[in-house]
Amino acid sequence: MPILSHLSRRNFLQTSGLVALGASLAACVPISAKPMAAVGPAPEAAVADADGALARLMEGNQRYAANKSIDIDEGESRRIEVAKAQHPFATIFSCVDSRVPPELVFDRGLGDLFVIRTAGHVIDNAVLGSLEFGVAELNIPLLMVLGHEKCGAVKATIETLESHGKAPAHIEALVEGITPAVEQAKTKAGDLLDNAVRENVTLIVAQLQKSEIMAEAIAKGALKIVGGRYDLDSGVVEML
Ligand SMILES: [Zn+2]
Repeated sequence: MPILSHLSRRNFLQTSGLVALGASLAACVPISAKPMAAVGPAPEAAVADADGALARLMEGNQRYAANKSIDIDEGESRRIEVAKAQHPFATIFSCVDSRVPPELVFDRGLGDLFVIRTAGHVIDNAVLGSLEFGVAELNIPLLMVLGHEKCGAVKATIETLESHGKAPAHIEALVEGITPAVEQAKTKAGDLLDNAVRENVTLIVAQLQKSEIMAEAIAKGALKIVGGRYDLDSGVVEML
């Protein structure tokens, strides 16, 4: 994808240090001259592997956390480009929390990320199948399991276990999915909720690595599965 197509013309000029030059040209060329953006942006190279994908993700998160998100191209030309085929460079398996939308957190646009979200990123067969599809059919080299600060699903699991109760209806399936992480976190010093959030990511990463399709891809060097924790206050994704 052309990286510079992600930049608005204003940002392109600023980031290229061409603002002054643009102003000089504006002063000496006719108004009908083509704008500088027509010079043609260099295309963003496809990621070569998981490390390249991770670097691209983290660069996007650094921009987001620093309030320097670029003007994501979600316009018609990009829509037409990705309508031909999708080549997302990373899968994000994250919580449904409205404060953690992956495309915003990683400052990426249409066609970049393959996103699966469930409360507390709990896995079931449909989720696992979706994640395996990303590996087997789309050859996505990186899968990030993304937990986050103050996860409500993890908190609800802690409260349910403490009250020796049961969550209503299908919410109990989430509690069951997150319980091993809470049990693991209880053996550690520090904040139970935050430790459980971290354990939940680590356990899900380990669980995914056991999938036959994932294990094969990992063995071939075609896939890496990593864990991250998103900080609601700073916007920073920390690698676990
Ligand atoms: Zn959550």
